[in-house]
Amino acid sequence: MVSDEKIVIVGAGPSGMEAALTLVKSGLHPIVIDAGARSGGQIYRRPPDTHRRSYTEIYGADAAKARHLHGAFDALGKTIDYRPNTRVWAAYEGALFLDGPSGRETLVYDKLILCTGATDRVFPIPGWEAPGCYSLAGAQIALKSQALALGGPIGFVGAGPLLWLVAWQHLWAGAQVAGVWCTAPLKNLAFALPWLALRPRLALRGAKQVVALWRAGVPIQFGARPRAVSVDGDGQVAGLQYSHGQETSEIPLQALALGWHLRSETQLSHLLGVPSVPRQHRPMIDGTGRSPVNGIYLAGDGVEILGADAARTGGRMAATALLNDLSRAQTVMAKMKSVLDRINHVRMRAFAKGLARAFPPPDYEHYRTLPETTVLCRCENVSLSAVRVASENWDCQDINRIKALTRAGMGRCQGRYCGATLTAIVASETGRAGSTIPEHRAQAPIYPLPIVAKDR
Ligand SMILES: Cc1cc2nc3c(=O)[nH]c(=O)nc-3n(C[C@H](O)[C@H](O)[C@H](O)COP(=O)(O)OP(=O)(O)OC[C@H]3O[C@@H](n4cnc5c(N)ncnc54)[C@H](O)[C@@H]3O)c2cc1C
Repeated sequence: MVSDEKIVIVGAGPSGMEAALTLVKSGLHPIVIDAGARSGGQIYRRPPDTHRRSYTEIYGADAAKARHLHGAFDALGKTIDYRPNTRVWAAYEGALFLDGPSGRETLVYDKLILCTGATDRVFPIPGWEAPGCYSLAGAQIALKSQALALGGPIGFVGAGPLLWLVAWQHLWAGAQVAGVWCTAPLKNLAFALPWLALRPRLALRGAKQVVALWRAGVPIQFGARPRAVSVDGDGQVAGLQYSHGQETSEIPLQALALGWHLRSETQLSHLLGVPSVPRQHRPMIDGTGRSPVNGIYLAGDGVEILGADAARTGGRMAATALLNDLSRAQTVMAKMKSVLDRINHVRMRAFAKGLARAFPPPDYEHYRTLPETTVLCRCENVSLSAVRVASENWDCQDINRIKALTRAGMGRCQGRYCGATLTAIVASETGRAGSTIPEHRAQAPIYPLPIVAKDR
């Protein structure tokens, strides 16, 4: 049976690739839009063709999964309309606005699966705007895609699985790792163990990374508080000041990577009116990926940070929900797989809950001790004092209003990196939970557009 429905998938990471594979198996031919030059998304990011490193060298323990997924997606060939290097910069009721190699285009859809993934969750420390200070993901992308370590010695600060993974990947690649400063205390891990035990192999892999770093003599500190990034005469990163208990120390560095896990990329779902789960700041979907907005489905890290395996099951589940809504017949095998996916997804959500407990973002004390000159919004160079003045003078506790008053969140990243900080600051000043602060609202264009962009 041929469908007249125009189906679009945004994102060619694990969730988008699985969604496309599932739809093609049922005889549909989706359009797949992806900002990346090659499919794979974040975890299975592919280096340029000219690079000659093996799968094991690039993906380590995930090499087999990466090879399998890349191969299966490439084999789809002309059964899908795959458009790499193309960004959806706006969306409005049934239409996506694209900017790609052949210019700008408006793409009308009947059904849409958003698989937009995640970006780093970063929080400010004084001096973090200095050249040489990167996000964890930025450091990893340089390593994975270009085989490049950003500096030696390089230090790692933050909390979450990516902190250990990226530090370990640098060690493995031969970079000089100056230390890992985890802001979460070690005891958190013990409390999270019942949840982490639900995926023992993955938890063990993380533990092995910590042990490998420790055995290589890399200084490791749990419960550390980063105080400031020191800079040299040229304004470049020269060190990290941190405290642990009552002791304050400084370590010389050439580069620093920081991050506290990830945040979902929700701009498009916001623009399309997908509501958020109350007090959770994440798009609302049913158990299969169907949103309350007719014809829109979501999957992967763009809904909730559950990791690559859950992104794959999420992609299959969302595509299956779409097929059900189109009343497409499915094989018994596909139906059984779908049930297994849903069971697995519950387990992976519980595991993610454990990770969130083990590695929380900085506490309110972090913001209370920040100097007023600390830059909060790196794109627009907005300081903490500017945000405080705006919020006090206007008795303003809405981060969208603060954005209008200070320009924090109006720059290149459109609040992806400072939105969580503004929320945390308003929460810490008012003593409220961050989840009760209204979210940063998305505005189109969600990416900067080149001035030369022309309509096709
Ligand atoms: C930088 C980074 C590195 C990571 N590294 C690891 C790792 O090494 N190991 C690990 O286990 N987990 C890692 N993670 C987490 C892991 O990548 C994710 O769990 C998994 O990739 C999620 O898959 P996904 O399909 O939901 O999203 P992603 O893999 O993030 O894919 C989303 C895709 O959507 C595209 N996209 C988003 N918005 C638009 C738009 N508006 N227009 C067009 N295209 C768009 C993006 O370019 C991207 O290709 C990493 C996450 C990040 C952010």
